[in-house]
Amino acid sequence: MYFSHHKKCREELRRRFVKAELALFKIRYETDDREERQEFMRVHKFGWAEADDKEMQLHGDKLAEASSWSTQAANAQEKYYKVKWTRVPDLVEKRRVFLKDGMAYVPAREQSSIVFQEFSSSLEKALERTAKELPRLDEDTRIVPILDNLSQGFLAGVSSEWTSASTTADGDEITADMVDELARKHFPMCMRNLHECLRRDRHLKHYGRLQYGLFLKVLGLSIDEAVAFWRRSFSNIQDDKFNKEYRYNIRHSYGLEGKRANYAAKSCQQILTSDQPGAQDSHGCPYRHFAPDNLQTALLSTYSSQGLTSSDLPEIMHTVKAGHYHVACTRVFEITHSAQEVKKGDGVGGGDSVTHPNQYAARSRELEKAILDARKADMDGDVPMS
Ligand code: SF4
Repeated sequence: MYFSHHKKCREELRRRFVKAELALFKIRYETDDREERQEFMRVHKFGWAEADDKEMQLHGDKLAEASSWSTQAANAQEKYYKVKWTRVPDLVEKRRVFLKDGMAYVPAREQSSIVFQEFSSSLEKALERTAKELPRLDEDTRIVPILDNLSQGFLAGVSSEWTSASTTADGDEITADMVDELARKHFPMCMRNLHECLRRDRHLKHYGRLQYGLFLKVLGLSIDEAVAFWRRSFSNIQDDKFNKEYRYNIRHSYGLEGKRANYAAKSCQQILTSDQPGAQDSHGCPYRHFAPDNLQTALLSTYSSQGLTSSDLPEIMHTVKAGHYHVACTRVFEITHSAQEVKKGDGVGGGDSVTHPNQYAARSRELEKAILDARKADMDGDVPMS
C-alpha cells in the first residue's frame, strides 16, 4: 500500500475525500424536495430537540439577534432546534446561532448545517476506522489495488510538502560544486541515476531535467547556482545553444519566467505514475522502471560503498516484485544508513516510508548533521579545563 505508510499523506487523502463527498451530498440534499428531506430526517435520528414555547419566549430577542436575517423568522415563530454547539461549528463561527449552556439554538432553515456537519463527521469516523483495518487488508490482493487506484485520483494536485523551506532547515543553500558529493551521500536511487546519467552523457532529456532540476531546487540550489550547475554539466553544448534552449526553462522552473508558478518537486507517486520513461530516458523510479537485473547491478554499484551487499538484494527484489517500490527504496535507505544507527523498520524517521525523493535526501542530511553535531559536542567536552 503506497499511501497507507505516510501519515500526512493519508490525512490529506481523507480530508479531500470527505470534502468531495460532502460537496456531492450537499447537491443531492439541496435538490431533494421537501418531503424527501423530511423522510431523510425521520430515518436518520439526528438527536436534536425542538426549543419549547417557554424557551422561545425567554430567549426570543437573543434568538432574533443571533443572526440579522432571523429577526423576521423569530417573529414568525420559526422553529428552533437545540444541539450541542460542537455539532454546528460553522454556524457558531459565523455567529449565526444563539448559544446557551453549551447548546446552540439552530433555526429550522439552518438545519442543513447540522445535517452536513453530521455527514462529514460520520464519514471521517468511518474512514479512520477503515484506516486502522488497512494493515490487515494489505494481504488482500483484490482490495488493495482498487484502494490504491482510488487514492491516486484524490492525490492529483496535492501540493508537495517538501518545499525549499522544509529541506533547508538551517538555511544552508547548496552550491553547484556540492552536488556531486551530496548525490553520493544522500540521494535516492532515482536521483543517483539521473545524476550519473548527466555526468556520463553530459546531457539529460526533458523529463529527466525536470525531475532532477526541481529536486535540486527544493534541496536548496538557488537559481544562479542552478544555472551554473546545468551550464557546467552540459559541457558539450555551446553557450549560445545553452542560453537559448535551457536557461529559460531553468528560470521557468524557478518561477521566474512564464506564468511564474512555484513548481513543486515531484513526489514518488508522481514519478511512479506519470510520464512513463521510454528506453532512452533516465527519469522515473528505478525500482519500478528498471529491469530486475539492471536494478540489482545498479543498486550494488551505487550503494555498496554505503554498506549495501548482494545478500540484501533478495529482500529488496521481493518487495519490488510485489509492486512496493517505495518500501524497497525505504529498505535501501535503512541499509545505507545503518552506520547512523538506522535500523530495519525505522524508515526515514518514525517508521515512515519514502514518499518523496526530497524527504529521503533531507532525512539523510539530517542524520549526517546529527552525527557531526554529536562529534563536535564530544570534542568540545574533551577540551581540558585549564
Ligand atoms: Fe525515487 Fe521515490 Fe523511487 Fe525512491 S521510491 S527511487 S525516492 S521515486
